[in-house]
Amino acid sequence: MHRDLAPGAAPPAGRSDPRRGLPRTDTVLADPRLADAAERLGRPLVKAAVVEAQERARRGEIPPADITEEAVRALPPTASALRPVLNATGVLLHTNLGRAALSEAARQAVLAAAGATDVEFDLASGDRAPRGRSTVRALLDRVPAAQAAHVVNNGAAALVLAATALARGREIIVSRGELVEIGDGFRLPDLLASTGARLREVGTTNRTTTADYAAAVGEATGFILRVHPSNFRITGFTGTPGLAELAELGPPLVADIGSGLLRCEPLLPDEPDAEGWLRAGADLVTASGDKLLGGPQCGLLLGRADLVRTLARHPLARALRVDKLTLAALEATLNSPATPTRSALHAEAGELRERAGRLAATLAAEGIPARAVDSPAIVGGGGAPGVVLPSAAVALPEAYAAPLRQGPTPVVGRTADGSCLLDLRTVPAPADAELAAAVRLAAEELARP
Ligand SMILES: *Cc1c(COP(=O)(O)O)cnc(C)c1O
Repeated sequence: MHRDLAPGAAPPAGRSDPRRGLPRTDTVLADPRLADAAERLGRPLVKAAVVEAQERARRGEIPPADITEEAVRALPPTASALRPVLNATGVLLHTNLGRAALSEAARQAVLAAAGATDVEFDLASGDRAPRGRSTVRALLDRVPAAQAAHVVNNGAAALVLAATALARGREIIVSRGELVEIGDGFRLPDLLASTGARLREVGTTNRTTTADYAAAVGEATGFILRVHPSNFRITGFTGTPGLAELAELGPPLVADIGSGLLRCEPLLPDEPDAEGWLRAGADLVTASGDKLLGGPQCGLLLGRADLVRTLARHPLARALRVDKLTLAALEATLNSPATPTRSALHAEAGELRERAGRLAATLAAEGIPARAVDSPAIVGGGGAPGVVLPSAAVALPEAYAAPLRQGPTPVVGRTADGSCLLDLRTVPAPADAELAAAVRLAAEELARP
C-alpha cells in the first residue's frame, strides 16, 4: 500500500496530502469504473493510472477534483501495453508495426481458439488427434502441388528446421548471390551454419550456373538451397539456373520463397509463389506466414511428403511448434483470403486519390493545413524490392507526426520533405473517419500553449 507513490513525491496512501487535499489512492480506486477496470485489467495497471493522475494534480496540470476522471481517461484499453495503431506509412508490411494485419476472419478465429479448444483432440472419438490438422488441410487445398505441409514459428525457423533435419553435419549447396541478410542483422549464412550444416558456396554474386551446383554435389550434400533475394535486386550481367535444372541434379532442392505467396500474384510478377516453385521442381518450399500471405507470424514448409515427415518428426520441431492461436489465424487466412494486406495491394490508385482529396478537404475546411498528394507506397517487410504502388496521402506539417503517434488512436505516418504524410493505401477505407478524428486531436494538441 505504501508503494503507491514515488518515494518523496507524496505522503503515503491512507492520508490525504495536507497541502493540496489530494484524495487518497484507495478512495479514487473505489470509483465503480476504476473498480471494474481493476477486475478486467488487474489492480496494478489501474493503480498506476491513478498514481499518474495524482502526480499530474500535484504538478498543477489538472485540478485535484479531476483525478478520478483523468485516471479513467488514462486507463489502458487492454492489460497488454501493445497498442493498436493506424498504419499510414504506405509500407504494406511494416516490420516495426507487426507486418501483416490479420483479417476479420482470422481475428475471430483467434478469439474462438483462445480458450480450451480441440487443437489436438478428436471430439467424435474422444481420442488425441494430429495437432493443426485442419490448418494443414487448408494449406494443401491452396497448394495442390504440395504433398504435405508443416507449420513452425516463422520463416527463419522453417529454414533452421530444414537445415537441421536434412543437412546437419552435411553440406548445403547455395549460390554466393543468395547469401542474404534478412533484416535486423540476421544473416542467412549464420542462421544455416548455426544448425551444424556446412555451407558449400558456389558461383559468384551475380552469376551462378547449373555446372557450378553440379560440381559441388557429392556424398556430403544434404540439399541444394535456392533463396529468393527478397529484399534487394541485382541487375545487369546476372544469371541463375532454373529450378528444373537444379532439381535434376539429385539432392533435394529446398527453396526459400520468403513472401508466402501461395499462388502467383499478377501485380508482383517477380515474387515467387509456393505452387509455382513446387511445380517447377522444388522438393520443399519455405515461406513466412505474415508477409504477402497476410496471416499470422509463422513459417510454412510445403512439399514432398517424405521430407515433411522427416522435419515434423525431428526433435527440434517441438521447439519450433506454433500455438493454437497461430494455427487458428493461419487457417482462417487460408480459407478467407480477403486480408488487409491483399486489400492494400489491390487498392485502386484513383480511389486512394479520392479518399485523400475528401479527407484533406474536410480537414482544410476546419482550418487544418491538410493537402492531398500523390505518394509512393511499397510492399516492405523485405518483399518486392523496387516495386512502387501508386498511392495518395494526406500531407500535414511535419509537427503533426509526434502528436499523431501519441494520441489515443496512434497514427504512424511517414515524414518526407518537411511533411507528415498519411498514406491511405495502408489505411483500410472504413478507418478514414478515425484517421480524421486523430488529426483533429493532433491539431488541438499543437494549438495548446
Ligand atoms: C523474410 C524472409 C525470411 C525470414 O522469415 P521470417 O518469417 O521473418 O523469419 C527468410 N528468407 C527470406 C527470403 C525472406 O524474405
